[in-house]
Amino acid sequence: MDYAIQVHGALGVTDDTILAAYYRHERAARIYDGADEVHKSRLARRILKPYRENR
Ligand SMILES: Cc1cc2nc3c(=O)[nH]c(=O)nc-3n(C[C@H](O)[C@H](O)[C@H](O)COP(=O)(O)OP(=O)(O)OC[C@H]3O[C@@H](n4cnc5c(N)ncnc54)[C@H](O)[C@@H]3O)c2cc1C
Repeated sequence: MDYAIQVHGALGVTDDTILAAYYRHERAARIYDGADEVHKSRLARRILKPYRENR
């Protein structure tokens, strides 16, 4: 998506094509279901939990 915008130049960041809307929609996916950082943190806790319990 980033590359598609790049090859369209300034046009790619306007609403004259669908690209900017797609980009906003896909970018929001890293936030609306919980921020990426929160998912990573929860996953890390889950993965590390057995090692913590076996100390
Ligand atoms: C398009 C869209 C649709 C949505 N739809 C819904 C919906 O239908 N129902 C609903 O309930 N909510 C909905 N939301 C809200 C969404 O769930 C929240 O935006 C999301 O949980 C992030 O919360 P926040 O925006 O308060 O960001 P914050 O929690 O303030 O986070 C901002 C930034 O701080 C950082 N951060 C936050 N927590 C941590 C952490 N633990 N560790 C490290 N860094 C951290 C990250 O960089 C994060 O991006 C929607 C949001 C969007 C954008």
